[in-house]
Amino acid sequence: MKKQTIAIDNRFVRPDVYGSLAVPIYTNVSFEFDDAQQMADAFTGRSKAPDYARVENPTVTNFENRVRELSGAAHVTAYNSGMAAISNALFAVTAQGKNIVSSRHLFGNTLALLTTTLMPFGVKPKLRDLTDLDAVEKAVDDNTCCIYLEIVTNPQLEVADLQALAAIAHRKNIPLIADSTVIPFTETSLKDLGVDIEVLSSTKYLSGGGTSLGGLIIDYGTFPEINKRLKGDLLFNVGAYMNPYSAYQQTLGLETLDVRYQRQAANAQHVAEGLREIKEIERVTYIGLKDSPFYELARKQFGPTSGAMIAIDLASKEACFKFINSLKLVHRATNLFDNRTLAIHPASTIFGLFPERQLEQMDVRQTTIRLSIGLEDPDDILDDIRQAVKQ
Ligand SMILES: *Cc1c(COP(=O)(O)O)cnc(C)c1O
Repeated sequence: MKKQTIAIDNRFVRPDVYGSLAVPIYTNVSFEFDDAQQMADAFTGRSKAPDYARVENPTVTNFENRVRELSGAAHVTAYNSGMAAISNALFAVTAQGKNIVSSRHLFGNTLALLTTTLMPFGVKPKLRDLTDLDAVEKAVDDNTCCIYLEIVTNPQLEVADLQALAAIAHRKNIPLIADSTVIPFTETSLKDLGVDIEVLSSTKYLSGGGTSLGGLIIDYGTFPEINKRLKGDLLFNVGAYMNPYSAYQQTLGLETLDVRYQRQAANAQHVAEGLREIKEIERVTYIGLKDSPFYELARKQFGPTSGAMIAIDLASKEACFKFINSLKLVHRATNLFDNRTLAIHPASTIFGLFPERQLEQMDVRQTTIRLSIGLEDPDDILDDIRQAVKQ
C-alpha cells in the first residue's frame, strides 16, 4: 500500500471490543493476566502483552506501529517530547569518556543538552561545521559515539550531505543520528541516505496543529544494541514514554500529515517567492529557492518539497520588533508547522539567554525572523507580511 493508505488504514494489534473505529485511548496504568505464567512472560519480555503503562500502552503502541510501517524502520519508540526522544537517543549511544560530533547550528535545547546537561557525565561535544567534511573527519576519533545533526538547521536553514556524513560515521562503526523534525519521514527516506537513527519532535508536523507534545526515535536497526538499551533499560529507568492522550492526537495527526504537509510546503514556496519581491526584506532564506546554496542538495536528499520554515532578515532588531508587533494575521508564537502561520524573533526568544558572542558563533542574527507557514491562503499570508513590513 502507498503511504497515505497506510496512514489511514488503522488496524489495531487487538480488535477493540466495541469495534471503535478511531483508536481508543487507554489511560489505565496496569493490565490483568489470566495466570502467573502469562504474567511472568509479559514482565520478562517473552510475550508482547502490556504489563505497566510506563513502558507499554496500547494507544501508544498503535501510534508507534503506524510510524514504523510508514518509515520502514525496525523499531519506533514514542516519547513525551522531542527533547525526551533526543536525550534518550543520546543516552543510548554514549558513555563516560565518549564524545559527540555535532554542530553549533542546533535547536537551542539540543545544543544545551550537549554543552551543559551531558558534561557532568563525562560526555563532551565536538562542535564543527558539518558542511566541512574534512573538519568532521578530523573530529571523529576512537571515543566518538555518534555524529549528530539536524537535516535542515533552524534558523540558519543549513543542509549537510547525509551520505557523506554517513560514510564517515560508518568507517568508524558509529551511527549517524539525524533530527528530522523539519521534513516528515513520509516525504523522504533518510534510511536510504545512510541515517541510522532518526529523532524528531512530533509536536511539530505530526501533532496536527500544535495539539500535543511528543517525540519519536525511528531506529533503522543498523546498530541493534541501541534498541536494546532504549527498550530494555532507558524506557524503564528514565520513564519518558509518550502519554496515551498525545498518542491519540498524534495518530489523528498522522492520518492527515501528508495532506497538511503538501499544502504547507506549497504555501511556503509561494510565500518565499513572494517575499523576495518586497524590497524592505534584505534576505529571504528558504531551501526551496533556486539561489539557496543548499537548493540542489536539499532536492537530492528530501525530494521536491522544502518544508514550511522560512527565515527573513530586516534592517535591524528594532525593525524586526516593529514588524512582529504589526502582524495582524500571522501569529506571534513559537512552534513550527502549526496549522497557523507563526512568526518569532529567535535571537531574543528561543536563544534569548545565550550570550551575544555565542549567538554569533551559531549564526543566530538579531535581524532574523523565523516564519512557519501554515494552511491559510498564501496570498493572505503575504498581504499581512507586506503590510507589517511597511510599518
Ligand atoms: C521543537 C524541536 C525540538 C524539541 O521538541 P519538543 O517537542 O519541543 O521537545 C527538537 N528539535 C527540533 C529541530 C525542533 O524544532
